[in-house]
Amino acid sequence: MKEKRKGLVFLKHLLYPRRCPACDGLLEPDERILCNACERQVKRTGDVVCVICGKSLGRVEDDICGDCRRGHAFTGGRALYRYEGRMKEAMYRFKYENRRCYADSFALEAKEQYGELLQAWGIECIVPIPMYKVKERKRGYNQAKVFAKALAGQFDLPMEELLYRAQDTPPMKGLSPEVRRDNVKNAFHMKRSAVQFNRILLVDDIYTTGATMDAAAGALLRNGITSVYAMYVCIGEGNGLVRVDDNKCF
Ligand SMILES: [Zn+2]
Ligand SMILES: [Zn+2]
Repeated sequence: MKEKRKGLVFLKHLLYPRRCPACDGLLEPDERILCNACERQVKRTGDVVCVICGKSLGRVEDDICGDCRRGHAFTGGRALYRYEGRMKEAMYRFKYENRRCYADSFALEAKEQYGELLQAWGIECIVPIPMYKVKERKRGYNQAKVFAKALAGQFDLPMEELLYRAQDTPPMKGLSPEVRRDNVKNAFHMKRSAVQFNRILLVDDIYTTGATMDAAAGALLRNGITSVYAMYVCIGEGNGLVRVDDNKCF
């Protein structure tokens, strides 16, 4: 029986070869999410994380990171990996090089790490951070939506595009938290929906300071959603970390 199952796994692998998101190589039949080499390299956020955004913290006695002290519109969020090394390259391919197939691996990872947490949060619907329509048409897809869809499949929850982006926003890299907030302040609006949900999981590819997530969560909360939680594939270092007096994250 065991041999038969092994055979089926092998056959499935031959028919549908899967890639390791971190190095883009094909996975062996016994490798599930990352290949064995990347499994040793890629960093997950670990056990000691900011209770709000899920960023890795340097000291056990801290419970909140510098960026989260300003407060957030969303209640809590978690990341699968740290945005560094191979995962930086992975996110580039996921975003710009049509490696949409990574989403299934990310959803599987999310289930393993946060299956129980999502249940505790009582999530009713998964909503992607929308991309500006013109931009999405040009790129061909919105990677946050691709991840949201895979998550919805993995957790057996509905995925709804409840938000739209009314304006394009400039790239946020290197900007201060205040400018980031200003840039996205009025970017998101909620579409009318036939079904009313109370507890939403907002989904994005990369989280840095939370400015985008807050703006999107704010639009949902203003329109009657009770609680917004968040999930992202990778979490960056944020801007709260540059302060020399509190070397808390990473
Ligand atoms: Zn790999
Ligand atoms: Zn935080």
